Amino acid sequence: MGRARRGGEARAMEIAIIGAGAAAVGLLDSLDPAAVESVTVYDPAPLPWRGRPYGPDLESVRVNVPPEIMSIRAGDVEHYAKWLGDTGEYDDERLGRPVPPRAVYGRYLEETAAAALGRFARTDVVRAAVTGLGLGAPGERVTVETAGGRRAADAAVLCVGGGTGPDLYGLAGAPGFVADPYPLERTLDGVPRDRDVAVIGAGLTAVDIVVSLAARAHTGRISLVSRSGTLPHVWQRPMRTDVRYLTPDHLRALDGPVTLDRLEALARTELAEAGDSWDDVAALIAASMRGDPARVLREQFDDMDSPLPGRRIVRTATHIAGPVAWRRLPEADRRRLRAHARTILAQASPMVPRNAAVLLDLLDAGTLEILSGAAGIEESSGRFRVRHAAGVRAADVVINAVNPPAHAVPRAAGPLVSSLLGQGAARHPDGGLTVDPGTGRLVVGGRPDPRVLVAGDLAGDGPFVTSSIPGLAGLAARAARVLVSRR
Ligand SMILES: Cc1cc2nc3c(=O)[nH]c(=O)nc-3n(C[C@H](O)[C@H](O)[C@H](O)COP(=O)(O)OP(=O)(O)OC[C@H]3O[C@@H](n4cnc5c(N)ncnc54)[C@H](O)[C@@H]3O)c2cc1C
Repeated sequence: MGRARRGGEARAMEIAIIGAGAAAVGLLDSLDPAAVESVTVYDPAPLPWRGRPYGPDLESVRVNVPPEIMSIRAGDVEHYAKWLGDTGEYDDERLGRPVPPRAVYGRYLEETAAAALGRFARTDVVRAAVTGLGLGAPGERVTVETAGGRRAADAAVLCVGGGTGPDLYGLAGAPGFVADPYPLERTLDGVPRDRDVAVIGAGLTAVDIVVSLAARAHTGRISLVSRSGTLPHVWQRPMRTDVRYLTPDHLRALDGPVTLDRLEALARTELAEAGDSWDDVAALIAASMRGDPARVLREQFDDMDSPLPGRRIVRTATHIAGPVAWRRLPEADRRRLRAHARTILAQASPMVPRNAAVLLDLLDAGTLEILSGAAGIEESSGRFRVRHAAGVRAADVVINAVNPPAHAVPRAAGPLVSSLLGQGAARHPDGGLTVDPGTGRLVVGGRPDPRVLVAGDLAGDGPFVTSSIPGLAGLAARAARVLVSRR
């Protein structure tokens, strides 16, 4: 591999990309082929480019956000909407936007990756997990290790995604327990329609499971069991909002310390100038965390067309400006935010209206119930006993929809992460690996290593909210710039 330098000309780089999900697609799309000659992408998944969420699955498993915030090309918000076209096929009428099956979005990622790969002189997609990355001495090339052998590269970018949900009640191996729900096409296939199903968790994965059971005409009882019983909010119909203060550029440019009090003052001004009130929005969000979740869901559903922009601005800012703000906040303020993680997640990652409508119908019909105060689940003779705040519920099937902790290491990346830790990389106190916050370079032996970057939630310096597509596209584009700037 590699070409000799000609007349002092810098040799174009050979890059290894570890993981072929959305972050890798964004990276490939942003990489400059004039500076990068060869790209080798590693992923053991049978279908690369789709990552964990966007593989083939049931039609009922939909994307969770409108197209204008699912472009994988940083700086081009229309990229995905243009690819999707205006067929009306997947319209969520209440949202006024298409919400296609996640597998359709996976096709967009696949086609974007194919077009991006075509721009490089040499490419290879290796269907294997990377088990180690040899760093050698600074300035040397890195060595990518798989079960099939080793290959050298000038630089490597880790795009391995996040982990899967933990087995909180030690049910692994119990008949009727589904530890990882995706693809639902496969996991729900063995669930008889008339059986009682308990879903552990009440977030977007739980919503995917409920709507998919409903689409299969499930007649048994469905119980969502979680500690708080709080459901995600419901998307409001998108409207144009000219955000001026809560933008990544504005937050980056702020002089002096950035504190929560300062961010709140910015949010007040932003919302006041947009004709809304921070106090009203904060009170509404706080109220949504109390009382009967079915009532809150209905209120959220009814508020979908509100002409007030405040909640929309706060939600968008959480995803787009939140990562920049988080990296500038003092630890004490990060702690304050972590204490409100549940509230922040419920408002930042809402369900699409078509899913909310299904849940409301099932709640009205008495087929769906939301149980809070989950205290334990035991299996005995093929049945489960689910203990919650108001008593005990029996179930035939239990499906795990617990979110992984922030910055969890995916199982397939365990050996790779261990190999890096063994060579001087460090665990971040919040989970994942320690990276240089400005560049995403992996910190090895206390210093950012210019040859290894992390793009995605394995980087422990980011917020606890799972990166959405625009966040990943931004991180991927930064990685592409940083790689090339090294030369
Ligand atoms: C169920 C679900 C639904 C989501 N829906 C949305 C949505 O609708 N809209 C939105 O904006 N965001 C959504 N997100 C958030 C975000 O878009 C996804 O998490 C996104 O897939 C993350 O991309 P990624 O490339 O970081 O990780 P992934 O997509 O998970 O890709 C990582 C890849 O790395 C591979 N890998 C892991 N270890 C190794 C190794 N050692 N060697 C080689 N390869 C390895 C894996 O096989 C995988 O293919 C969703 C997240 C989840 C979990």
